Amino acid sequence: MKINNTVVEDSYRHKGLRKKLVEVLKNKGIIDERILSAIGIIPRHIFMDSSFINFSYSDQAFPIAAGQTISQPYTVAFQTSLLEIKPMDKVLEVGTGSGYQTAVLLELGAKVFTIERQRELFLKAQSALKMLGYKPQFFYGDGYEGIPSYQPYDKILVTAAAPIVPQKLLEQLKVGGKLVIPVGGDSGQTMMLIVRESENSFIRSEHGAFAFVPLLKGKAG
Ligand code: SAH
Repeated sequence: MKINNTVVEDSYRHKGLRKKLVEVLKNKGIIDERILSAIGIIPRHIFMDSSFINFSYSDQAFPIAAGQTISQPYTVAFQTSLLEIKPMDKVLEVGTGSGYQTAVLLELGAKVFTIERQRELFLKAQSALKMLGYKPQFFYGDGYEGIPSYQPYDKILVTAAAPIVPQKLLEQLKVGGKLVIPVGGDSGQTMMLIVRESENSFIRSEHGAFAFVPLLKGKAG
């Protein structure tokens, strides 16, 4: 199969499993056709740890390197829906992880700046995304700081559990922009959507309970 002009091992079986996954997500309430089509296209098995490769198209989170997880496809689709991504949106993603969510954002036409604090994942995600022809800008560092040099962002997506909403992320959001972030501790988080209405006013809404690995300070090795 050719994705973005790159030949990738992607069988009819994989395609069939992806179709089923798309149906599962529809049944769980994901209605945005562009997101469903992105999930139907992106070979999630390329982003999985080899031990779990046979489960690539089940709607579950799985361990990846460095004690982290690839998010559940439903969660990826849900966070992406809340952001209402438009082509050419400038998006900051905190927590590259496997790079799967990054691919979904890119498939929707966004310009993506993605940051990861685990060096191993920062490197692995780059090779997976490059192999598929996706071109985000990668950063190795602490997402609590955002990426100041490319601010302001139309959208900011945090894919790890934040004990608080980092002030720097609010500052780096465009007026009219949206931040999606799971807020809470180890026992679970609430999905928050924060819209920057004006320079100093932010409107928050809550969108259900989720479970993410924690957003940690500083760079790991
Ligand atoms: N969307 C990713 C989710 C990976 S899990 C996927 O589906 O694969 C969350 C990721 O956030 C982990 O890789 C973790 O290392 C990273 N992370 C945690 N704290 C961070 C921080 N302060 N800055 C950048 N990345 C962080």
